[in-house]
Amino acid sequence: MRLSEVAQSAEPSATLSLNARAKAMAARGEDVVMFTVGEPDFDTPENIKQAAVRALQAGHTKYTPAAGTMELRRAIADKLEKDNGLHYEPEQILVSNGTKQALYIVMLCLLNEGDELLLPAPCWVSYPAQAEVCGGRPVTIDATGTADLKLTPAMLESALTERSKLLLLNSPCNPSGVVYTGDELRALVEVALEHDLWILSDEVYEKLIYDGLEHVSVASLGPQALEHTVTFNGLSKTYAMTGWRIGYAAAPRELIEAAGRLQSHLSSGPNSIAQKAAVEALTGEQDSVGEMREAFARRRDMIVQGLNAIEGVRCRRPQGAFYAFPDCRELLGHTYAGRRVEDSLSLSEALLETVKLAVVPGAPFGAEGYLRFSYALADSDIENGLKRLAEFVGMRED
Ligand code: GLU
Repeated sequence: MRLSEVAQSAEPSATLSLNARAKAMAARGEDVVMFTVGEPDFDTPENIKQAAVRALQAGHTKYTPAAGTMELRRAIADKLEKDNGLHYEPEQILVSNGTKQALYIVMLCLLNEGDELLLPAPCWVSYPAQAEVCGGRPVTIDATGTADLKLTPAMLESALTERSKLLLLNSPCNPSGVVYTGDELRALVEVALEHDLWILSDEVYEKLIYDGLEHVSVASLGPQALEHTVTFNGLSKTYAMTGWRIGYAAAPRELIEAAGRLQSHLSSGPNSIAQKAAVEALTGEQDSVGEMREAFARRRDMIVQGLNAIEGVRCRRPQGAFYAFPDCRELLGHTYAGRRVEDSLSLSEALLETVKLAVVPGAPFGAEGYLRFSYALADSDIENGLKRLAEFVGMRED
């Protein structure tokens, strides 16, 4: 079969495929500890599930408008005003099948062949893949050499070319857990605006920030920032709704209208029942959000401490999201239980096969030598996983 060039070159999502592999092992009865996918282990809060049941019983089972129901777009606009200080009309919101689809459709709207998407690395695995599918060129800016893994204005300046079109910012960051301050974002936005870039700001982890830090929305940094930023968010992480697939983009009207036209051909409107549930999530009681955040904060402390106690593993304290992203370069170049480990991929393979510990290698995030641990899982699993990592390190033969 002669597949298209895009199909031939597309790699599977490292986060999803590793998770599927670990789950298949578990289904065969193997005792795997899974730190792979970024997915809250909590169930969706009851009030949200009940809203879906009511929607189903009331017959909300038909197509909705392609860009989402007006009711949900209005609820999102209200949320953005209240939480983020952003003023958008409901017509400036696109509701998609997850934040992932919103990102992809917006890239389709903004990228022409060869246009560059600037990406501070480490970054989430799907951004470069999506830009490529759109004919764009992902340009990663390596921030792994900086003390806090953050992009600086000088680094951004030096990556600019005539084809630079988009800058992707993701605070809190998947996989590093880094949170940018308002001043840091302002300095980056200044450079981006000076060079006429669009900013794609993925804020899907905004409610998962610890240590009393505050989330700053890029588009809130002034009228020009608002005009040149697309704000992305979704319900998966905040409300433990990964399977419901509701995400959104907020942007100037012309862009959202174009995105809605594309979405009308690609998938039509998102799931009608999930949209009803999303209205309840955004407008109903919010206690569960704080409860989940507290649990994640406790687990973060536990995993960071545990990782740093293992020889050869160094882990920064992430300030947001639910990922620990330890530097494991000292573990490379050695043999463990007869297996040679040269890079993050072979390390993650060896961990899975020897001690049944499933983690995502740093390489697909643009950070070779690192591993990503999603700590959105039970305390006992975290403890067990840390023990297995220590056991593996103890198997070193050279
Ligand atoms: N964003 C989550 C992760 O990084 C979910 C999986 C995905 O869509 O990549 O694990």
